[in-house]
Amino acid sequence: MIEVRDVDKEFNNGKESIHVLDHISFQVEKGEIVTLLGKSGCGKSTLLNMVGGFEKANGGMVILDGNEVRQPTRKCIMLFQQINLLPWRTVLKNVQLGLEEERISIEEMNQRVNDALTLVGLENHHHQFPHELSGGMQQRVAIARALAMQPDVILMDEPFAALDTFNRYLLQDELLRIQEKLKTTILMVTHDIDEAVYLSDRILIMTSHPGEIFKDVPIKLVKPRDRAGE
Ligand code: ATP
Ligand code: MG
Repeated sequence: MIEVRDVDKEFNNGKESIHVLDHISFQVEKGEIVTLLGKSGCGKSTLLNMVGGFEKANGGMVILDGNEVRQPTRKCIMLFQQINLLPWRTVLKNVQLGLEEERISIEEMNQRVNDALTLVGLENHHHQFPHELSGGMQQRVAIARALAMQPDVILMDEPFAALDTFNRYLLQDELLRIQEKLKTTILMVTHDIDEAVYLSDRILIMTSHPGEIFKDVPIKLVKPRDRAGE
């Protein structure tokens, strides 16, 4: 469970300080998908970075399963809009990347990598290089890399924004299917309201200057989309 407790953030560029987040509090329960929605510059990425431990708050704290977040951990993985795969490594080696520092056996590493690639439908692409894959497939590799680390929480900052509509829909459905299976807690940011409504259990709408949670909207949709015709 993620607990954001009274988080306040100012950035100071030497001349002036801007108040970006104004005493924000909310919780994301285990297995929930929650989306932050708000105007450009309202502080969504800053808030996500703070939950991930990449940015420090001026006040308040983020608590992940009972522990205060002070730095990035492997329990909480961040996925970005820019897919950062290593071009000189195969799909397999890219997914292994996150596991190289874990104290696990080669057998377990191979198992986790295989399972993760199968979950995202790339079981037949282990030996290809990123440039041989479409944008959607590359983002799947990034998702597999996150899943192989078996995180409790995945943070996603506009993860599908760079994809065309078709691939975006495919990946949204895949994410829902994977999430249904693994019950990972997901906190994400998107500018796409359809995507927010489709994926989320709740949407947190933020105001700007400074950013605060304006509304917490529960969503009730029958998911996934590709079951509509059944
Ligand atoms: P977008 O939807 O465009 O991605 P956002 O809601 O993610 O916007 P943030 O990137 O969190 O917004 O930025 C919020 C505010 O904080 C902006 O005014 C931005 O200029 C400022 N800001 C973000 N990071 C820094 C930084 N490292 N130093 C100074 N100011 C920053
Ligand atoms: Mg942003």
